[in-house]
Amino acid sequence: MLVQTPKFIQALFPSIIWRKKTKNKEVWLTFDDGPTPEVTPWILTTLKQENIKATFFLVGRQIEQYPKLVGEIINEGHSIANHSYSHKNGWLCSKEKYISDVEKCQELMPENSLFRPPYGKITKAQISVLKVKYKIILWDVLGWDFLQNTTPEKILKDILSNTKAGSIIVLHNNQKSFNNLQSILEKTIKSLKEKGFSFSVTW
Ligand SMILES: [Zn+2]
Repeated sequence: MLVQTPKFIQALFPSIIWRKKTKNKEVWLTFDDGPTPEVTPWILTTLKQENIKATFFLVGRQIEQYPKLVGEIINEGHSIANHSYSHKNGWLCSKEKYISDVEKCQELMPENSLFRPPYGKITKAQISVLKVKYKIILWDVLGWDFLQNTTPEKILKDILSNTKAGSIIVLHNNQKSFNNLQSILEKTIKSLKEKGFSFSVTW
């Protein structure tokens, strides 16, 4: 399983941000798919203990269900961003439907300017419309925390060995990944700090 996104795929999609350009030893930690009542409060507590900030790519229909959790994310100083309204797969969806799903989420966070396509799946036609209004953010480090047949040790090792300055790391704010996340989040943050990384939410 690939932890890093191959360079040739990155080259095919020049308007997507896979990794940030930076002169500093900093990384961007991101959580997809919340807010989730069983998971988000635990993530917030862990980030607070470690005194770091992260970016939460949120799903519109869950924002509507759990607005209080969104308030807590913001109050803790984290960033929120658009992960579509109903988590559609762009490869299986017309351009019009896809764009309107993104816009429906955006209405819930009008000041946001970041979008991450669910599953990382988006077509060139969808990109050409969305890039006018949004920075389209994917990642260069994927921990596969949502897989059931992996181990916390493997997730942690993969993340640590692939992260470099400017890396965008994706983890998940959903129930499917929660067991793995609980095993690795604190260790991941502490190990990255030991390697000298700081955590940015400035996009
Ligand atoms: Zn997602």
